[in-house]
Amino acid sequence: MGIPSESTVAMVMTTQRRRRHRADILNEVETIIKDQRSKLLNEDDISLWKQPDGKYKPVFKTKFTWEVIRRKEQRVSWWKGIWFKHHTPKYAFFHWIAIHNRLATGDRMQTWNRGVNSACILCRASQETRNHLFFECSYSSEVWSLLMSGLLQTSFTSKWSELLVLIMDNSSDFLTNFLTRYTLQATIHSIWRERNERRHGAIATPARELGKLLDRHVRNRCCSIQQLGDQNYAGSLSRWFATR
Ligand SMILES: [Zn+2]
Repeated sequence: MGIPSESTVAMVMTTQRRRRHRADILNEVETIIKDQRSKLLNEDDISLWKQPDGKYKPVFKTKFTWEVIRRKEQRVSWWKGIWFKHHTPKYAFFHWIAIHNRLATGDRMQTWNRGVNSACILCRASQETRNHLFFECSYSSEVWSLLMSGLLQTSFTSKWSELLVLIMDNSSDFLTNFLTRYTLQATIHSIWRERNERRHGAIATPARELGKLLDRHVRNRCCSIQQLGDQNYAGSLSRWFATR
């Protein structure tokens, strides 16, 4: 269908008979509609976007749109332990899902389908739950210990609930906090990938080997932060080396 020209619209407007209503409010609506129609003839159509203050402006910003459509919840106490400076977005997002216990772990899959094998594929000695995978499981606990026992020393833990407290804790120096948070996210992500690969028939990666891969990965991240020129984090690599 073609777009009517301005003259066609004008002709329709002038020939359109105004309706009379018994209710005053409807006559007021008719008047407003008539006013709006007369404006339409003189102005071009433009898109207006609702802003956080409720006003409409011809400016579109994804941030504003997100603020308008989202439901605001109370800020959680652990957010800084997830969305810290120099995090890797895919790891942080994965950690966030894990904190909400929304991963398709064996125990959760069994609630959807009773026939599913819910045993841990990494150790085959226990049911697969989030807390078991990160890091009560003998396999993942070995990986985590290889990476973090030197850095955390007496604070070292393999318990999920204690790890949550650890990432919120700011009593250590910020380099230790950064390395703890970053390595935790990278390890959780890698353990989950290893778990998925084994479930799909891949050959198991020995814990020591996975630990070495992650160690290299943390070093690379420290180097890339150095290259970004963030002087505050310049000591992260030497701190990491000192705890190997
Ligand atoms: Zn296990």
